[in-house]
Amino acid sequence: MTEISRRKFVGLSASVLAASRVPSFAQAAAADQRPVGFAAVGLGTISGIFTRACSTSQTAKITGLVTGHPDTNGKQFAERCNVPDSSVYTYETFDHIRDNKEIEAVYIGLPNSMHCEYTIRAAQAGKHVLCEKPMAISSAECKRMIDACKSANVKLMIAYRIHYDPVHLQAQELIRSGAIGQIEAFEGGYGFNAGPNQWRLNRKLAGGGALVDVGIYPMNEARWLTGEEPVSFTAIPTTRDRTSGRFAEVEQTLDFTIKFPSGIVGTFGCSYGADMPGFLRIHGDRGSLQLSPAFDYTGAHLTSIGGRQRIDVPPQGESGFQFKLEAEHFANCVRTNTDPKTPGEEGLKDLVALEAIYKAAGTPMA
Ligand code: NAD
Repeated sequence: MTEISRRKFVGLSASVLAASRVPSFAQAAAADQRPVGFAAVGLGTISGIFTRACSTSQTAKITGLVTGHPDTNGKQFAERCNVPDSSVYTYETFDHIRDNKEIEAVYIGLPNSMHCEYTIRAAQAGKHVLCEKPMAISSAECKRMIDACKSANVKLMIAYRIHYDPVHLQAQELIRSGAIGQIEAFEGGYGFNAGPNQWRLNRKLAGGGALVDVGIYPMNEARWLTGEEPVSFTAIPTTRDRTSGRFAEVEQTLDFTIKFPSGIVGTFGCSYGADMPGFLRIHGDRGSLQLSPAFDYTGAHLTSIGGRQRIDVPPQGESGFQFKLEAEHFANCVRTNTDPKTPGEEGLKDLVALEAIYKAAGTPMA
């Protein structure tokens, strides 16, 4: 029995990290060395984490802010991020970022239904776009976002932080190396007990319920690890809480299966009712891998279940480090004029699958 553990992982993950961060020698020589300046758009929870992550980076920096509350939230963020008042914008003055040379890119941390509008406006202002997941609330919106960024000749990346996490990258490498043989099936889930009165429970703003917010994680990772696009779908939505009014517009819980052309099947669950830690199991014909926890901001832990190899890849990094890695990857793409690993097309493929899952559930999106 062989063992992949902490010592071996350090060597392997260093190469995995290096591949995600470092441009080629020629690219590095030609690249502008200044950090890429980002304007955070929508100053809620995720922008708080993103801006803190950038504060420890040498290559990604917050140089602008966009908020509906410039005198309160805007001021607090500006002080912490060292952004001058003149670089704090509202949704009404957003388009003036065009004239701010310190802002080269935007990070969109708005409710899902606003991603499309602000991506297109940012592109038209000549700024690169790093947009949170889900990319939008329909595949049609995703296509418009991709087209707008292409016509403006700016880069578009979707913030799939998991694709930049060294433990998840290690899972990908192990699968590619044949450690569990041929993949047969996935199981996974993610959920939390959603509090009332938030945009996530408003269909117009969110586009859907637990599926678009948390069910997307195991589904996206199965797509990523197989490199295939699902072709058939089943889904069962359910709402147990019929009294609080939280789930008048979106589903509380959804169980779904996706089947890939090769025959690999993924069976997943997601919920806004259950406090369900994220997990993913990847079953191969020569063993299984488990990521548990899988999808939190830190702490992803990869282990084997059965099989010939004992694998134990411990959690890496402090909270927020995935956001720093994704920001730095995008900054590197901007400086070296290379394509992001998680471009708009990746977000579009998820939306196509999410629409098909909702269709199977009998509940359309948005
Ligand atoms: P949030 O509610 O904490 O923040 C949303 C921000 O948008 C707030 O600053 C709010 O003022 C602003 N906003 C502007 N117009 C609004 C409107 N009409 N209604 C409500 N808010 C409005 O939300 P969040 O958790 O930061 O999520 C923002 C985005 O980030 C979502 O797309 C979400 O899916 C994504 N997200 C990603 C991760 C991740 O791990 N990658 C985690 C959480 C959220």
